[in-house]
Amino acid sequence: MKLNIAVIKGDGIGPEIVTEAMKVLDKVAFVYSHEINYKEVLMGGASIDAYGIPLTDETIEVCRFSDAVLMGSIGGDTNTSPWYKLEPSKRPEAGLLGIRKALNLFANLRPAYLYRELSDACPLKKEIADKGFDMLIMRELTGGLYFGERKTVTENGIKKAVDTLTYTEEEIRRIAIKAFEIARKRRNSVISVDKANVLDSSRLWRSVVNEVSKDYPDVKLEHMLVDNCAMQLVRDPSQFDVVLTENMFGDILSDEASMITGSIGMLSSASLNDTKFGLYEPSHGSAPDIAGLNIANPIATILSASMMLRYTFDLDKEADDIERAVNSVLSDGLRTADIYTDGTTKISCSDMGDEIAGRIGK
Ligand code: NAD
Repeated sequence: MKLNIAVIKGDGIGPEIVTEAMKVLDKVAFVYSHEINYKEVLMGGASIDAYGIPLTDETIEVCRFSDAVLMGSIGGDTNTSPWYKLEPSKRPEAGLLGIRKALNLFANLRPAYLYRELSDACPLKKEIADKGFDMLIMRELTGGLYFGERKTVTENGIKKAVDTLTYTEEEIRRIAIKAFEIARKRRNSVISVDKANVLDSSRLWRSVVNEVSKDYPDVKLEHMLVDNCAMQLVRDPSQFDVVLTENMFGDILSDEASMITGSIGMLSSASLNDTKFGLYEPSHGSAPDIAGLNIANPIATILSASMMLRYTFDLDKEADDIERAVNSVLSDGLRTADIYTDGTTKISCSDMGDEIAGRIGK
C-alpha cells in the first residue's frame, strides 16, 4: 500500500519523538512491503520562526492532500519563549486550533491503557490497577459549549455571563457512527456519556446515539451520566471500552482517564474527520524543559503512528505489531527517564526508537 503522510515535527521534543515514530513506520513499511511518502511541513513555533505565523496555507494544503498527518507537540515555554509575547491568534497553539478547523477534525480519540509493567505509576488502589484497563475516550471536538455563542452583559448593574451548548442531530450522528465503527475494531462496546437527566442537548444526544446503534447490532451500547462516569473511571476503569461523549465532558474525562495511567509519555491521540483522514499526535505537550537532550519518551508518538495505521489505513496487523513491540520493550525492562524505576534499564529517546523498530516483524 502507498501511504502519503504529512509530517509536522513541531517544537521542543517534537522533532526527536517524531523522528523515532518515523523510524518505526519505516520498519513497518519494510517488513510488510508498504511505500511511505512523507511530506514535512511546519506548524506552531517553528512556523512562526520561519514565516511569522503559526499555520500557513501551504501547511493546510499539504495536510489536506495527504492521507494522514503525523505530528509532534507544538509550543514552547509559556513563561520565557518570545512566541508568547505575540497576540493570542499568532501564538503556536493557534496553529493547532486552525488546522483542526481547516480539516474539520471533529472526533478526538484518546486511548487510556494501563501497561502491567507500569502499573506502579497508576494512582489507583492496587486491587483496581491489577485488573488493568484499556479504553478509548472519543470526544466531540468542534461543537458544544466551547463553540457556542457567549456574552457577558450588565443587567440592572449586575454582570451576567452566558455560554450556550448547542448540538445538531448531524453533529451527534457523525461522531456516533465513528464510535460504533471503532468499537468494532476493539471489544464491541460503547458507553455513551451525557447528562440527559438535566440537559436538552444530552437528551438529543442520547436519542441520536440510540438511533445510530440500530445499524450496529453487534456493538453493545450503554448510557451513563457524566457524574457517574467520573466516579466509575476511578472505581472500576476496566468496564470501559469506547467512551463516546460531547466536547466539554470529553475534555474533563479524557484528562481523568490519562491521569489514572500515570505516565504522560505513553499517551497517544488522534483527531478524525468523516473520511479516513486523521491527525495523529501524542497527548502530551512539547516538554521544552527536556528538549534536545535525547531523553524524551517517544512511545506516545510511536503509538499515535500505530493508531494511524489502524484507523486511516486499516492496517490492523501492522498496528498490532507496533503495540506488541512496545509491550516487548517494556517487559524487557527498558525505560526512558520518565518511566524509569529501580531495577529497570534507562535508555535514550533514540535507543527506545531503535528497540521498538528492531522488534517489528519478530
Ligand atoms: P508538557 O506535556 O509539555 O510537559 C509536562 C511535563 O511532562 C514536563 O515535565 C515534561 O518534561 C514531561 N513530559 C511531557 N512529555 C514527555 C515525554 N514524551 N517524555 C518525557 N517527559 C515528558 O506540558 P507543559 O509543560 O504544560 O507544556 C509545554 C508546551 O507544550 C506549552 O507550550 C503547551 O502549550 C504545549 N502543549 C502542546 C500540546 C499539543 O501540541 N497538542 C499539548 C499540551 C501542551
